Order: sequence, then structure tokens, then C-alpha cells
Amino acid sequence: MPSTAKDVAVLGGSVSGLAAADALDEVDSVGEVRVFERQQYDDRRVDCGEAINDATLVPLEKTPENGFVNDVEGFQLRVYGGTDRHPRSAPIGVSRLGCEPGYICERDTVERRWAETLSERGVVFETGRSVTPGMYRDLVDEYDYVVDATGQPALTQKVRDTVPSYTGDMVALNATVEGDFGRYVDRPRIFFEGYVGYAWSFPKSERRANVGIGWAGDRRPDDYMQALAAAAERNGFPVPDRGDVNIYTIPRGPSLDPRATYVPADGVFLVGDAAGIANRYQGEGICQGIRSSYLLADALADGRPEAYPDRLYESMKAEYRLAHLMRGAWVEHEDPELLAAVAEALDGLSIDDITRRPRRVIRRVLNSPRVAARLVADGGMLGRLVDAYTDSWEYDTGTSA
Ligand SMILES: Cc1cc2nc3c(=O)[nH]c(=O)nc-3n(C[C@H](O)[C@H](O)[C@H](O)COP(=O)(O)OP(=O)(O)OC[C@H]3O[C@@H](n4cnc5c(N)ncnc54)[C@H](O)[C@@H]3O)c2cc1C
Repeated sequence: MPSTAKDVAVLGGSVSGLAAADALDEVDSVGEVRVFERQQYDDRRVDCGEAINDATLVPLEKTPENGFVNDVEGFQLRVYGGTDRHPRSAPIGVSRLGCEPGYICERDTVERRWAETLSERGVVFETGRSVTPGMYRDLVDEYDYVVDATGQPALTQKVRDTVPSYTGDMVALNATVEGDFGRYVDRPRIFFEGYVGYAWSFPKSERRANVGIGWAGDRRPDDYMQALAAAAERNGFPVPDRGDVNIYTIPRGPSLDPRATYVPADGVFLVGDAAGIANRYQGEGICQGIRSSYLLADALADGRPEAYPDRLYESMKAEYRLAHLMRGAWVEHEDPELLAAVAEALDGLSIDDITRRPRRVIRRVLNSPRVAARLVADGGMLGRLVDAYTDSWEYDTGTSA
């Protein structure tokens, strides 16, 4: 270990914090890595759909003991005309998307096993106590680097009093339920039903599934629990018990603004939800968080901490672009038939394609000229295309829809 070794405090020990601890522990120039997590790993702790779309990012063997309980083939998107319909009526569009490296997980187990593995390697864990703003300031003084992986809003934003610029955007509810999921255990379902958002049923086995619903956009139901129960009845999955339901927001913040991901004076870096980088369209954030932590470790290994914000921006750019366009396909038109046609045009692509590869998506849509023409026959959608390809969809313009 070089005598100039840098000690790192990681705040928050969920997926992004664990990935940061794991990768930083491998960096030659890093000395102590200490993770501060307010919960215990044995607690029930996770509010999430538990789909890890690229499980190769988690350096654990893909066994049920490590929480990788369902190795899925992909996902099925089912588009409906609206919520006012007969339960279990046929969708107006169906699309099958591949996800070869994807798993539905017991995320608590994945995180507990990951933390145990890191602990065996010498990473120090302090669990069961929140880092307070006062402790945060002490840690900033004491450690060479602080990685803020506290989710959203980030502790750094709270300490710096910049939370208002950084608010939750999507509201989502989820729970694990018992039922019969044998028909689609290999291909979890996502239901688009005429609002900005979707419901889902992600089987963990033939008998258990993580189910939920989330809304982006301004229109929200008055009663979230009742809306989840109605979605369950329409889409044929069990209604969760109220006591089992988590309710949570998915961030949308200044995210890629370099000033929001790196505070050079304090040696603080934000990763994962703390940096507000969950997908703007479908809310996926596990792989995004892990990737951001690995990018940070690479920047520190290169001795270039200041490179982290730019590298994060570059790596996320295509995904932001695509999310801006995908969101527009609904927000600008509010036409379920068009959304169904777009979904069907994407049939056979992978989740990675429709999340991170705008060219593949655009090529597919252009293969259906009528769908493409309908999509761009709208000023808002054309504006989004221009925004997307001039990178004007982020912090510098305050674009929000
Ligand atoms: C209902 C729902 C379903 C979702 N489904 C999926 C899905 O299926 N797939 C997917 O990829 N993404 C999904 N997401 C998004 C995903 O859950 C997040 O993007 C992901 O959890 C971000 O991980 P993170 O480690 O950055 O932050 P978090 O998971 O929020 O973790 C933050 C950690 O920091 C700790 N912490 C916070 N404050 C402090 C403090 N002051 N001191 C010490 N510790 C602290 C917390 O206890 C927690 O462990 C879903 C989100 C929601 C709300």
C-alpha cells in the first residue's frame, strides 16, 4: 500500500454503495474503505421491483443463496387502451424484449451476501446508524474521499441545503405477493395502461412475485393503494396486503450536472440514486447506480477524480436521450394505439437496446414508416428530437417533462 493511500468513506450500503466499496477496495491507491449504512443487512430493507437487468455487474455467483432467484429470458410489454377496461381483457399491443443477463432477485439477500463478501475482504461496515449532517462534516474532514450513495435526496444535498433542486419524480408502490405465476415466470410482465407510468408483475418463482405500479408525470391517483389494488385486479396479479406495500419516489434531479455529482473542495462524489441517475423513463436504477460507482473507481484508479462527472455524463448520454424520446412517445401524444404500435415495432430488441441504444430503437421505428410518421407529426416530439440530439435535455436547460 503506498504511503499516500487515500481512505474512503462510503455513505449508504445499498447496491451503489456496495459497488463503490467493492471497486474502490481493488484500487491500489486506496487504503481503508469504510461503509456507513443506517440499516442492518438482516432487516427487510428494500423498496424496489428487484429486477437486475444486467446481473453480471454484481460480482456474486448467480445462486438462490446469493439472492438470484429467477434467471429470466426477458420481459413482455403489454399495452392497453386504458384502465377502464374489463379485467384481463386482451392488450392492444404486445412486445417481447430480451434480457439475457437479467434476474429477478431477492434484493435484500443480494445486498447482505455482497456486504458479507466485502467484509471478509477487509471492507469495514458500520451499520444500524444514520450518518447525520454533523457526522457527514466530520467524515469529510477525516477521509480523503467520501462517496455519497445515500439514495435520493442525497445526504450531500441535505447538508448543502440544495434538496429543492432535486426532487422525486416518479412515485411507485410495490410488494412481494404469493400466487400462480407459472405462465410467465420466464418473462415478467410490464403493463402500460394509458397513464405516464406502468404496472408490473415480476415473478421470483412460480409462486412468488414482486408486483407494483408507478406514475411519472403530473397526473397521479388520489389513492395510491386503491390504484395498486385496481391494477392488480385488471392485470391478473394478487392484490398485496396494505402492510406489505412499500411506497417510494424515484429521483429526477440535476443528476449529470457536474456540480451535483462531485464536490471537489470536500472530495465528495455522488453515485446512483444520490446522483439522481435512475432511468428517466422506466425508473430502472440498480445497474445505473452500480455502473456509476465503477466509473468513479476507474477515475480514482487513474488518479483523475475530476474526470468522474464527465465520464458519468458520457456514459449516461445515450440513455438520457432515449428516455427523453420514449417519454415523449407517450407525453406528447397520449395515444395508447400509437404506444402499442411503437412497442410492437420494438419487439425482439433487448432491454439494454431500448434503454441505452437510441440508434437501434430509431432504426426499428423507421422500419415502420407509418408509426414513425405518426410519432413525429407533433411539434413537441420534434422538439424532443432536437433536444435529444443537441444534448439540451439536461441540467443546462432545465427541460422537465
Ligand atoms: C417501487 C420501485 C421499484 C423499482 N424497481 C426497480 C427494478 O426492478 N430494477 C431497477 O433496476 N431499479 C428499480 N428501482 C430503482 C432502484 O430501486 C434504485 O434506483 C436503486 O435502489 C438505487 O440504489 P442506490 O444504492 O443508489 O440507492 P438506495 O437503494 O436508495 O440506497 C441508499 C442506501 O443508503 C442508506 N442511507 C440513506 N441515508 C443514509 C444515512 N444518512 N446514513 C447512512 N445510510 C444511509 C439507505 O439505508 C440505503 O441502504 C425501483 C424503485 C422503486 C421505488
